[in-house]
Amino acid sequence: MHGDPNLSPEALERDGAAVLAWIASYFRSLESLPVRSALRPGDVRSMLPDRAPEHPEPFARCLEDMDRVVLPGLTHWQSPRFFGYFPCNTSVPSILGELLAAGLATQGMLWQTSPACTEIESHVLDWLVHLLGLPEAFLSTSTGGGVIQDSASSATLCALLAARERASGFRTRERGIDRPFVAYCSDQAHSSVEKAMAIAGIGTDHLRRIPTDAQCAMRPEPLAERMAQDRAAGMEPFFVTATIGTTAANGMDPLTAIGRICAREGAWLHVDAAMSGTAALCPEFRGMHEGIHLVDSYCFNPHKWMFTNFDCDCFWVRDRQALLGALSILPEYLRNEASESGAVIDYRDWQIPLGRRFRALKLWFVLRCYGAEGLRARIREHVADTAWLAGRIADDPRLELLMPPPLNLLCFRVLDEDDAPTRRLLADLDRVYFLTHAVIDGRFFIRVAAGGMWTERHHLASLLEAIRNGVTG
Ligand code: PLP
Repeated sequence: MHGDPNLSPEALERDGAAVLAWIASYFRSLESLPVRSALRPGDVRSMLPDRAPEHPEPFARCLEDMDRVVLPGLTHWQSPRFFGYFPCNTSVPSILGELLAAGLATQGMLWQTSPACTEIESHVLDWLVHLLGLPEAFLSTSTGGGVIQDSASSATLCALLAARERASGFRTRERGIDRPFVAYCSDQAHSSVEKAMAIAGIGTDHLRRIPTDAQCAMRPEPLAERMAQDRAAGMEPFFVTATIGTTAANGMDPLTAIGRICAREGAWLHVDAAMSGTAALCPEFRGMHEGIHLVDSYCFNPHKWMFTNFDCDCFWVRDRQALLGALSILPEYLRNEASESGAVIDYRDWQIPLGRRFRALKLWFVLRCYGAEGLRARIREHVADTAWLAGRIADDPRLELLMPPPLNLLCFRVLDEDDAPTRRLLADLDRVYFLTHAVIDGRFFIRVAAGGMWTERHHLASLLEAIRNGVTG
């Protein structure tokens, strides 16, 4: 295959240019593409041959199939009319960083397997500690450090494993779980906490869901009470996940109160700030982080709101020894002088898999090409646009806002005893937009998650018009 002109560096230049042009044209067409795929289950597979090709095809045929097979089967997350779930952004520097990472195809499991892969990652995560106003202990030069995980779910699992290890006096990894551990999160926390409990072998029955207040924030008193009850019953409270920006409605758990309870109980406090953490780039939104000095670990996803494409979750710990105690492993074939010197970070010990990609490149490029001010400006726009829409919805006597949106996510419903009018409105809006729903306190809400790369005020204004027309009709 070496001599195949379709697989040569020259082919990369030629076909790569065509791919970049295709992506640029895709971005230009986003306004006009329907946000939802009209295909039915099985339609995409029916366009594919039954067996893999025996003979080489030119790359141009693959690119043709992007139009023929892939585009019709896409939900356009980058559409300015996509307001579902959470933003899943990308950007020019992120795309190019990802492309370079693919070209280099490094394997960054050890410092030795690519020093740049490790050191740029540590450095960029240290930059972010300063940019987000996180505790100094999270710096790689302090007791802790940061690492890029594939997802917030993995970060939460790693935090839980580190907590389990610390709570057991670093014996669990050899002996298994022989303690009656119990963990806590709010009734609005992400399902990844439950999943982590299942994976870690502690069991979802040992996860306590603590009630939330009208702002969807964890109430500290029931947390303290439940921990005391569990202790009295011979259980060992070892781990609490607080959420900054809950999935359904952007509730912000009070870190100071929760942190004090955790300190008293000796429980590890992890913060899941998957989407909302990005807002801490702007000092005026850092109120949500009050009490952050009390937390043991923290994660947020640049792959949601910070213009860095999936996958990129930034995860920090205050005490890296706890994480290493849970995850480090050293087979003979990975032994090397740099690791043994103790002078380097080997990120394989900071995550579940051994291998790892050069994810830091795209994050590094995003931070450089936007600049902190550029990122802040976009975040401020998204927050202001969301507040603008919330104000109009609050003024409409036919509609009800769950609460003033803290950042870029609002929830509203049609003012009615019954959920049916809100469900009808959502179905109507979903013909043009992509929106998702939340059920809070038994009531059905429509969520509007703003913060897309291409979403601007006029898109929200059109959505507002569609909402007003939809309620009338
Ligand atoms: N945590 C919160 C608060 C979320 O809203 C989400 C969103 O999907 C997640 C975790 C999961 O993120 P990931 O897909 O990175 O695991």
